[in-house]
Amino acid sequence: MKMNFNMPVNLKFGAGVIKENSEDFKLGKRALLVTGQNSARLSGALIDVIGVLDSLGISHDIFDKVENNPSLKNISEGSRFGKSCGSDFIIAIGGGSPLDAAKAIAALATNDMDPIDLFKNEFKNEFLPIIAVPTTSGTGSEVTPYSVLTVHSMKTKRSFTSRWSYPKVAFADPCYTYSLPYSVSVDTAYDAFSHLLESYYSVRSNPLNDSIAVEGMKKIAGCMKDIAAGNLNDEVRGKLMYSSCLGGMTIAHTGTTLIHAMGYSLTFFKSFSHGRANAMIMAEYMRLNKSELPEKTKVVLDVLGLGDIDDADDYFSLGLDKKPILSDDECREFAGLAVKQGSVKMNPKQVGEKDIYELYVKIFGGAQ
Ligand code: NAP
Ligand code: ZN
Repeated sequence: MKMNFNMPVNLKFGAGVIKENSEDFKLGKRALLVTGQNSARLSGALIDVIGVLDSLGISHDIFDKVENNPSLKNISEGSRFGKSCGSDFIIAIGGGSPLDAAKAIAALATNDMDPIDLFKNEFKNEFLPIIAVPTTSGTGSEVTPYSVLTVHSMKTKRSFTSRWSYPKVAFADPCYTYSLPYSVSVDTAYDAFSHLLESYYSVRSNPLNDSIAVEGMKKIAGCMKDIAAGNLNDEVRGKLMYSSCLGGMTIAHTGTTLIHAMGYSLTFFKSFSHGRANAMIMAEYMRLNKSELPEKTKVVLDVLGLGDIDDADDYFSLGLDKKPILSDDECREFAGLAVKQGSVKMNPKQVGEKDIYELYVKIFGGAQ
């Protein structure tokens, strides 16, 4: 067996980790706090971070305009703001959107480049150091090198990666997710599950990654009854954030596969959240790959406590009123966009544009 397992993020997990580890904030003299409009304040993370910075005499500026599914224009604005402040390190607070935006802002701060060139993954200079404070349990972006951005000119999302985009330190405190609306809690849990599942199924999977993926899937599955009952207690919040971190660690090594490639159009054109978009594809994805990975499929069904993949449709539909119906033209357009994502090649069953079109029709076609 050959394997490379690099997890360079110093992950501090648990209640109160920010106040307990203030020394880890000494990454510069002037911090740029990157966040969305509400999440940092509502979660309580912002006040904790500012308290630590003040106690250390580190000054800070706040860019709190990160959009959901941030665009190139949005990160350019953040980058200009950071440069005007003279920021020398970045603290990202929020869900995957602010965390990913922060990675792009950190790259543009030290590399004089057009934002669209981020996706070439070629950087001359080391990025500004990043501290990540997640306030959702889904993307695992706090432990991944990926930054996923919306590119309007391409009508989709693209991601970039670099060894410098890993946060130096991640403070994963489940208490910061208590303020999440129920729908975001459910959708992000499905996103975390999709990372674990796709990594487990990826052609790049390895035994160490697999063991982490199964551990994460078990933890989420163990929470599903409570989530369905709306019982998002401390224990559930803790398990979800733990699984989200594990999901991030797994995709940091394998990347995602077909679910993410197909989900982007459901977010771009139909405004479904990232996690919900993935959830709607999950059961069909398992059906598609069953013949390639019969043993792994059995493991996942056992973890979920399901006898058959047909039961998975309901399992991944919690909180969904009804799936959208896509026209034939939409299915064709979405397939054309999905097949261009590099992650498609990491799918266990090799698929082309026609197969992806047929999958969209099967899941979202008018005759369903
Ligand atoms: P998000 O877009 O960051 O946040 C969704 C919504 O939840 C926002 O309105 C946000 O408010 C709110 N929110 C977040 N935390 C909150 C809290 N504690 N209390 C109250 N409201 C809160 O959602 P996400 O699912 O975490 O991130 C999705 C993005 O991550 C997508 O762009 C996706 O493509 C990307 N992603 C990245 C990776 C990676 O490895 N880098 C992996 C998967 C997905 P605000 O507007 O105030 O922020
Ligand atoms: Zn995701």
